[in-house]
Amino acid sequence: MASQRPGFPVRLTPTASAATRGRASAVPAKPLVVNQTPSMASDAVRARMVQRLAAQGIADARVLRAMSAVERHRFVDSALVNQAYEDTSLPIGLGQTISKPNVVARMIELLLGAPALASKPGDRLGRVLEIGTGCGYQAAVLSHVATEVYSIERLRGLHERARSNLRPFRLATVHLLLGDGMVGYAKGAPYAGIIAAAGGDALPEAWLAQLAVGGRIVAPTQSPAGGQALVVVDKTARGLERRVLEAVHFVPLKSGIA
Ligand code: SAH
Repeated sequence: MASQRPGFPVRLTPTASAATRGRASAVPAKPLVVNQTPSMASDAVRARMVQRLAAQGIADARVLRAMSAVERHRFVDSALVNQAYEDTSLPIGLGQTISKPNVVARMIELLLGAPALASKPGDRLGRVLEIGTGCGYQAAVLSHVATEVYSIERLRGLHERARSNLRPFRLATVHLLLGDGMVGYAKGAPYAGIIAAAGGDALPEAWLAQLAVGGRIVAPTQSPAGGQALVVVDKTARGLERRVLEAVHFVPLKSGIA
């Protein structure tokens, strides 16, 4: 339950000894978040994260709004709550990681650049398929920019963790599925967007087949030069258009359920 989460954030309440170190008269410093509820404190830290994202070049207001709406600290382990809004990837259990906020925002911004939305810059994307639910954080962010979100996870433990992480948010448009995302999810197709949080050698055929005309795939894939790169594929009336962007580091895309 949310009320059982640890106080947030410890970093903003320096101890008197740290704050007054080296001073002649040791007047205890006031905690910076005095009179704030944990949720107000997290709002302030999250607002700073969003300012940082904007400074780093994330320009789409839909993405910035979604990143400020979703409480990232509710998706990470209690021991990591104080790092929830830092620009860093974090472990989410079973050897998997949640991407850093900048990468989540960048990929969703790219997804919203789908050809179908080109003439309607303020609109929501249609149905989105996410491969790799992990802790459910990105699915929650996606729910703010898309009409429906289908999110597949192959590890039962994480699928269940995401389910319990997302429950308090009551997001009726997020559908969590346990399965092998390499075969996509045909029942929800066609998708306006497909976004992968795990990287394979090439884009599975099923993703290309389940993408709507006007839709876009954003996924990490093995790059010929070694390492992973972000790939964007648009399906247009003329066919598939593919661009390879910056280097990234994602956990591997694996087949089967575990
Ligand atoms: N978007 C997630 C990040 C998850 S990390 C979040 O916000 O937390 C990537 C996830 O992809 C891992 O949980 C991993 O188990 C999962 N994954 C890897 N291959 C997969 C596949 N074929 N189908 C579904 N999930 C897969």
